[in-house]
Amino acid sequence: VTQNPQQPEVNIGLVGHVDHGKTTLVQALSGSWTDQHSEEMKRGISIRLGYADATFRQIPGADPPECYTVEETDEDGNETEVLRTVSFVDAPGHETLMATMLSGAAIMDGAVLVVSATEEVPQAQTEEHLMALDIIGIDNIVVAQNKVDLVDRDRAVENYEQIQEFVKGTVAEDAPIVPISAQQEVNIDLLIDAIEREIPTPERDETKAARMFTARSFDINRPGTTWEDLSGGVIGGSVVEGKLTKGEELELRPGREVEEGGQTEWKPITTDIRSLQAGGQMSDEVRPGGLCGVGTGLDPSLTKGDALAGQVAGEPGSLPPTREEFTMDVELLNRVVGEDEETVEEISTGEPLMLTVGTATTVGAVTSARTGEAEVSLKRPVCAAAGAKIAINRRVGARWRLIGIGTLK
Ligand code: GDP
Ligand code: MG
Repeated sequence: VTQNPQQPEVNIGLVGHVDHGKTTLVQALSGSWTDQHSEEMKRGISIRLGYADATFRQIPGADPPECYTVEETDEDGNETEVLRTVSFVDAPGHETLMATMLSGAAIMDGAVLVVSATEEVPQAQTEEHLMALDIIGIDNIVVAQNKVDLVDRDRAVENYEQIQEFVKGTVAEDAPIVPISAQQEVNIDLLIDAIEREIPTPERDETKAARMFTARSFDINRPGTTWEDLSGGVIGGSVVEGKLTKGEELELRPGREVEEGGQTEWKPITTDIRSLQAGGQMSDEVRPGGLCGVGTGLDPSLTKGDALAGQVAGEPGSLPPTREEFTMDVELLNRVVGEDEETVEEISTGEPLMLTVGTATTVGAVTSARTGEAEVSLKRPVCAAAGAKIAINRRVGARWRLIGIGTLK
């Protein structure tokens, strides 16, 4: 098992219809993808929001695109040069809850849309995921036309044209479409070339206050551990701004619900950073890119079972406010994603909505609805700044369906 030589610096979502080859592609790009992380991290982070780090390399002296590889040595046994390590977030394509994908989207800098050449375009989640990228504003996209080993040339060309037609007028309109076979590892160099050009590492301002979106939280202690040996609670997620440093204080919002004099109130939690893990290694600092684990001084009972998932962490005093209700500008989709004929009705006062804000998902009741605007009261508060994007889901039949995007006022 190879260890990535550096921390990942960019997050790339792997999206697309179930069975089109997302997981196979991640494996082709990252070698053995589960062994890069310790047991706790595997348990903790990669299960619900699958992810893997991959290091892109270049063969010295060779020209693009042939120079690109994920191998440590070229065919002659010469060492390759490291370009950068990227983190792939493998969105679960069969997932009925669009929210899981959207909460992944909150931490994505770009995306690879995997489309199988063996099926008509678009399949349900191909469309659903592209629409989600569109509304969440992810426009650094590469389309991987996968499984070209299974079709003849004519079918491949026909399918390629269907993809071109399908992305017209969407956020992926100008995205390169790269024919590949993830399983046979064909054209992986071309795909890396496209990712290098289309999904650059964003400029990061290290002087900004640290901001982390929490996707998981857990207790790493085995049952029966005595209190002297107990490790503090662990949170997992992604740093989106600034950097986290071992030894520094950390605040989490909304924090937890406390009871005082018969009243309940949400209070931020403060703790300190005892250990940091990123790119499968312990570290003293973590910057944006990839998923990280933060060992804290918190009582593990506070972090177990994802109790702190969806919270925002950062330097004490620097976090956005906790909101138990808010007003948002609303932009509704023309039709319900994944439902063929269903048009989206206006939001009405009193109806329940499922809202995804950052990595937090919460149910809210609409207290006032006007065209283009809605006021909601939340079951569980969220920590979010004005301008934050909100995925709005409505109950349609037995499922929550994406109906629009909100912008927090
Ligand atoms: P996911 O649901 O999008 O993650 O799809 P998987 O990666 O699990 O792939 C679904 C199936 O397609 C598996 O049986 C893979 O082995 C197969 N598969 C994926 N990519 C290719 C490819 O490029 N060529 C062929 N022939 N099969 C592939
Ligand atoms: Mg998969």
